[in-house]
Amino acid sequence: MPDSSLATAELISPSNSGRGYNKTFGVIHDIESPPGPEWAESLGGPNYMQNPANKVSVQYVTDSDTVVQTGWEDAWCWGAGPYANKRAIQIEQAGYASFTEAQWLGDASAVGSTYVRPDGTTRTYTAQDAADMAAQLELLAHLVADISKRHGWRTVVLTADELRAASNNTDVGGGWVEHRDVSNILGGTGHHDAGEGYPIQRLMDRATQINQGISPTPLPEDPVNQQDIDNIADAVVDKLTKKKMFPTNIYNPTTKKETFSVLSWPDTNRAKATMLARVYRKLVG
Ligand SMILES: [Zn+2]
Repeated sequence: MPDSSLATAELISPSNSGRGYNKTFGVIHDIESPPGPEWAESLGGPNYMQNPANKVSVQYVTDSDTVVQTGWEDAWCWGAGPYANKRAIQIEQAGYASFTEAQWLGDASAVGSTYVRPDGTTRTYTAQDAADMAAQLELLAHLVADISKRHGWRTVVLTADELRAASNNTDVGGGWVEHRDVSNILGGTGHHDAGEGYPIQRLMDRATQINQGISPTPLPEDPVNQQDIDNIADAVVDKLTKKKMFPTNIYNPTTKKETFSVLSWPDTNRAKATMLARVYRKLVG
C-alpha cells in the first residue's frame, strides 16, 4: 500500500540505499518532460526510474492526473545528492526548469508563449498545456499537504539555515525546498530544477489551504492595473531618454538585461510593475 492515499500505483525503483531513515524535509523537482498525463507512470516505470542503469529515484512522481509512488517515504532515494537524499522526501513532476512562473501555474497569459527544452528546441505552450499544468499544481499541492500533515511538517519554504539543519537530521518543524536550493546551499548535486520561475511559495500557500480545509478560490484581483504600469514605464523611458540611454546605452549589459526582462516578463501586472520599478531604481541610482 502506498504511503500516501493519493498515490494510485507503486513503481518502486531499485535504486536506493535502504529504508528506515527519519525524514526532516521535502524536495521538489521537475523531470524535464512536457505537461500532460501519463508521465508519472512512464517516467516512474521501467523507461526511467525503474531502470537500474539510471541510478535515480525519488519518493513520488506526479503529472496532471496521477501520483505514482516510486520510493518509500523512509527510503534513502537518489534524487538530490548525498547531502539531501538521506533526510528528504522527494517529488518529481512533469515540466521544464526553463518554464516561467505563468507556465508553471497554467495561467491563461502563458498560452502562446514559448519554452526551451533541454535539447535546445523551442515549443509553443498551448491551452492544453495550461490546463494540464494547473491540474498538476493542484494535485501536487494535495500531495505536499498530505505528506506534511502525516509527518507534522510545516508547509513553508525552508531558509538556508533550516535546510542545513534539516539535512543533518535536526527537527526544524519540516518544510520544503527545490532541488536547486539543495545544489546552491548544500552542494553535492548540480541540477537547477524546478527552476527560477517555479512558484514554490504558491505551492506552499495552496498546501496550507488544503490542510485548513479551504477549497480552491479564484486568485485575488491584481492590485496593479495597466495604468500603473504605463505610468512607471513612462518614467523609465523618460529617464532613459534624459540619460541618453536610447539607443546606444541600451546595449549596456545591465540595462539590456533589465530591459529585455521587462519586455519578456510574462507574469502578472504586479510583477511587471515590480520589474519596471527595479529598472527605474537602477537608472536613478
Ligand atoms: Zn531534480
